[in-house]
Order: sequence, then C-alpha cells, then structure tokens
Amino acid sequence: MNILVANLGSTSFKFRLFRFGGAGAVTLLAKGGYERVTDYGQAIDDCLAELRAGGHVQSSADLHGVGFKTVLGRNLTGCVRADARVIAALDGFKEIAPAHNPPYALGIQRFQEKLPGVPLVALFETAFYQWVPEAATRYAVPQAWHEAGVRRYGFHGASHKFVAERSAELLGRADIAERVRQLYQNGPVPLAAGARPLRVISCHLGGSSSITGMRDGIAIGTSMGLSPQSGLPQNNRVGDLDSAAVPFVMKTLGLSLAEVERQMTKESGLLGLSGVGNDLRDVRAAAQQGNARAQLALDVFVQSARHWIGAFLLELGGCDALVFTAGIGENNPDLRAAICANLGDLGLQLDAAKNSALRGAEGEISAAGSRTRVFVIPANEELVVARETLRCISAR
Ligand code: AMP
Repeated sequence: MNILVANLGSTSFKFRLFRFGGAGAVTLLAKGGYERVTDYGQAIDDCLAELRAGGHVQSSADLHGVGFKTVLGRNLTGCVRADARVIAALDGFKEIAPAHNPPYALGIQRFQEKLPGVPLVALFETAFYQWVPEAATRYAVPQAWHEAGVRRYGFHGASHKFVAERSAELLGRADIAERVRQLYQNGPVPLAAGARPLRVISCHLGGSSSITGMRDGIAIGTSMGLSPQSGLPQNNRVGDLDSAAVPFVMKTLGLSLAEVERQMTKESGLLGLSGVGNDLRDVRAAAQQGNARAQLALDVFVQSARHWIGAFLLELGGCDALVFTAGIGENNPDLRAAICANLGDLGLQLDAAKNSALRGAEGEISAAGSRTRVFVIPANEELVVARETLRCISAR
C-alpha cells in the first residue's frame, strides 16, 4: 500500500511517499517539495511526475491514500476522510489558524479534483487531545464565547502521539504503546487490572513548540490553547500573552487590530525578544557573543518550558519519562540541560556527557540513578499521518 503524506503551507508543498508491506513494515520511498507554490494543482502534477520518474508509482491508481496533517477544524477532530465536511470545518476556523487552514482547504480540494479515485484522509493536530479532562480545556470566558469555539484545543498532536508510543516502547510498556497505536480507532482502551501507570511529559521544541502531559499514553493537557500561537514563545509568534495587552497597545501605540495580529504572528516570539532572528541557532550564536537580548530570549524560552513541565509534573503526580523532540529538542544539548537544571530533588538528573553527545538521534540522556528517565526521540509526524491514513482507509 502506497500512502502519500502532503504537507501544505501557504506557499509550499512538501510530500513523503511511504510503502506499507506485510507485518507493519514501512519504507519511506520518496520525499520532496516545492517552495513559492502559486498553484497546488500544478504542484500535485509535478509531485506525481516526480514519483513516476522515480519508478515509485505509475499513475494515481498506485496511490492508495493521501494523508493531510490538518491543524484544527470547527466542531471536527480526529482522523477522518478529507471530504466536504473537513473543508467546511477548516473554513469555519480560518481566523484562528490563518497560515494553515486556508492552504489545507484549498490543497484538499485540488487533490479531490486531480485524484478523484484516491481516498483522502485528514488527521487533525487537535486529535490527540480528545480525551483531555474538560476542566483543562476551558477558558473562563462567557458561555457564548465558549459556544463559539473559544477553548483550549492543543496542537502538535501527531508529534506528541509518536512520542507517547515510542516512549512506551523504550520503557518496556508494550501495552501502552499498543493503546496509543489504537487510540483513534478505539479510544482509550482499558489497561489490564493492576497495570502500573505511566506518566510522560513530551517537549516538542522547534520553530513551533508545545509541551504535553500524558498519562498511560493519553494527553491530560498541553501548553497550546485556542491557537498555535499560545504556550511557549514560538519562533516569531507570541506564545502566552495576557489578553489585556491587545487593547492596551491598540490604544497607547495607535495600532490597528490587523497590525497587532501581524506583529503577534510575525514579529514576536524568539524574534521579538532577541531582535536577532527566529532561528534558535542564530539567537544562541548572538547570546554566546554577549548579546544580552538574545540571552534573555533563551532564558524566557527555558523558563516557559520549565513552567509547563512543572504544571504537568504536579498534575501527573510525578514523571516516569521526560522526552525532547523536534528541531531544538533534538539538537540543542545546552537548552536541554538548562530546562533540566536543579531538578535532582524531584528525581530528575541528566547525564551531562550523554546529553552533550546526543544530537539528532534517539537516545537516553538521564543519569543512571535518575527516577525520571530523559529521552530524545526524533520527531516523526509524517509517519504518524501515513499510519493513521492507512488505518482510516482500511477501517472502511
Ligand atoms: P523544527 O520546527 O522542528 O524544524 O525546528 C526548528 C528549530 O530547530 C530552529 O529554531 C532551529 O534553530 C532548531 N534547530 C534545527 N537544527 C538544529 C541544530 N542542528 N542545532 C541547533 N538547533 C537546531
């Protein structure tokens, strides 16, 4: 079975082609992408031509499904066929995710036109949070706001789900790994009587960052709320902000609402704090050369990560494993060390040498006696989308 995963940005189109064989074997056959895309229809044609030239598929008949990592939909989540209902749901929340929802709605429509016989599947980034207790999803807003959709949703679901499954495997908990694999088909299946609980905190730290607490493989809460510009400071997006800031700067700095939105989504986060750039490598290099604002940006990022880890540590009543994933989490030992500093009394201690040596690969970085084990698990969101796409198609 060949499953294509399409990653649609406002001006980009990236793809990966996976082949699923027997007994769960999966191979990445091809990956590629285009920047400065103005016509998704053309990009789809180019992608198919590339896959044909590579000898992977002869025609769309060799594609058994296409998966999309959609962000959030109004009144819709989970892993579902990407049909008119999905497009309407994306459209219904385009104001909340303006950079993500319109390209996906348009891209899915183009795929429907170009590949009429191929099943299309949407895996919402919010899907992993369907079982979060209601109290952790509510904002203290008037009921009408809540009914309009103002609540905490959570994002990076594919990434945190991968961490939930893989960390369970690394901790020898095949029962929980299997529970996570089945989650979108069967919901949280009961564990065997007497099974030990498993408490994991997953830190997806990258251009976009979030931290999720998970009990027995199921999310209990996450740092991102209504939109992907909440929680930790993002690369150029604001992260958590007191809502009073918006009317305040509109009145005192004379900014329009559109300009405030632009600055919160394009000129804030690590970029706004540091004044240097939105890539952590640049911020870190400037900090090392003595740039105080760049150092402050790193400190704010670390402080925020610790804030959320602390919240889930308390809510979970302890932590069996802390996991770092995504560009920053996988590649930046200094930041991992700063986030884990002085937690010995809470039972978490890094092995400094293992931590410094590990970049871009899976491994354990906690000290031998550490009660909380600490892992780096490289992000694998596309594989999650491909697997769920296959499962969704096969379930019919
Ligand atoms: P992502 O969104 O997961 O692709 O992560 C992007 C972020 O990861 C950027 O802020 C990069 O600075 C950071 N990053 C990626 N590769 C490295 C690396 N080799 N060393 C340090 N940071 C990295």
